Amino acid sequence: MKTAVIYARYSSDNQSEQSIEGQLHVCEDYAKNNDIILLDTYIDRAMTGTNDNRPAFQQMLKDSKKREWDYVLVYKFDRFSRNKYETAIHKKTLRDNGVKLMSATEYLPDTPERIIIESMFEGYAEYYSAELSQKVRRGMKETRLKGNFTGGNVLYGYKVENHKVIIDDTKAEVVRYIYSQYASGVYVKDIIDSLTAKGILNKGKPFARNTIYNILKNEKYSGIYRHKGEVFDNMYPAIIDDKTFDKVRKLTNKNKYGKRSTEVSYLLSTRTVCGYCGSRITGETGTSKLGDVKRYYKCFGRKRKNGCTKTMVRKDTLEKLVADSIIQELNSPNTIDSIVKALLKMQESNNKNNPLLSLLIKERNQTETVINNIMDAIEKGVVTNTTAKRLKENEQKLENLERKIIIEKSKTSVQLTEKEIRQFYEKALHMEEKMLIHYLVKQIVLYDDKIEIKFYHPLTTSSD
Ligand SMILES: [Zn+2]
Repeated sequence: MKTAVIYARYSSDNQSEQSIEGQLHVCEDYAKNNDIILLDTYIDRAMTGTNDNRPAFQQMLKDSKKREWDYVLVYKFDRFSRNKYETAIHKKTLRDNGVKLMSATEYLPDTPERIIIESMFEGYAEYYSAELSQKVRRGMKETRLKGNFTGGNVLYGYKVENHKVIIDDTKAEVVRYIYSQYASGVYVKDIIDSLTAKGILNKGKPFARNTIYNILKNEKYSGIYRHKGEVFDNMYPAIIDDKTFDKVRKLTNKNKYGKRSTEVSYLLSTRTVCGYCGSRITGETGTSKLGDVKRYYKCFGRKRKNGCTKTMVRKDTLEKLVADSIIQELNSPNTIDSIVKALLKMQESNNKNNPLLSLLIKERNQTETVINNIMDAIEKGVVTNTTAKRLKENEQKLENLERKIIIEKSKTSVQLTEKEIRQFYEKALHMEEKMLIHYLVKQIVLYDDKIEIKFYHPLTTSSD
């Protein structure tokens, strides 16, 4: 017999929604008809789809770690989460805990197509979930740098003494004030006013809105310093505690910058070049006199005054244009035909051999051996200071490898029919625009009056 818990959510913002009692009733019926034993019920009443404030949902995720049940049963999948990326992340959490998500009203068979969509989502979630990567990286506690200040501007709230960054107590107080005010819901404008009223200025002038936002978004205040993909926690002493920082991060993401951090949100900048001078096109943020933030893509050559006269393009405009072109492109019968053909061919050769998969499996076996050796040593009483650390590192590595192996396997072991591939691409059209850009666009050449979009070969993109 399988066991399950029910998760139900009722949002007050949708009048036509099934009541909690209705959702429970349907789920209970489903369980009865499918020989599933219900062990518990988690209910969030009058909650919106965002996760931050769904206590029962969070509790359910937490409890899934105990591995006491096999399924989370929901009335509809959208009860679980409204957002695809969040769904992917939470489903992964559940899966890691051996728990599956099940809907009482929607049938989602284990088709190859679904597996591919899910692994794409997973890849996407992995790529973009700042929250997730932050947690993983924080756990790593990199200490390769000695924690010496590497030069440049000193961040507000700090000063440098003997090559070390230390806290400037007076300014750090201001930073803490800004964070605590913002965390408790005070508007940035009002924070500036109250600072100014207290005579607290920045370089002799009232704080600019942008400066405040930059302070609110800077991870260094929480003690984290990133450099070339590595994370160091021994460079900047934390001024803001993790809890406050995470709260503020969520608020700034929600209020001002959409779902993702600014760094990621210039999605096109890594793949766009100027059609006139060949320079990169980079994201540029400006603040108008009224304090509105405006975002553009700008030719980097022109920025460096190389004589190029390419005009700036509004970020929204360009991204919309690219997304529309992708959709149009995917809709044309010729494209779909060639995609299908390419996919079938690729599938064939992938199934013959997947070097990445064999590499991963080899690495996993080696890691397992290392772990076994450590365990042996522990059993024999040979324990040094580094034993536990090494064990943990290798266990983490193993977990990562297992995950990658599953994704690789799902990519290769499935045989899609031509029809399934067609359906998959039709679904791709309904995916979020940014996801389409991420997976499908290789390069964009930008002119003032035209734009050239070069597409990736289908599916190879999901692994880049
Ligand atoms: Zn240019």
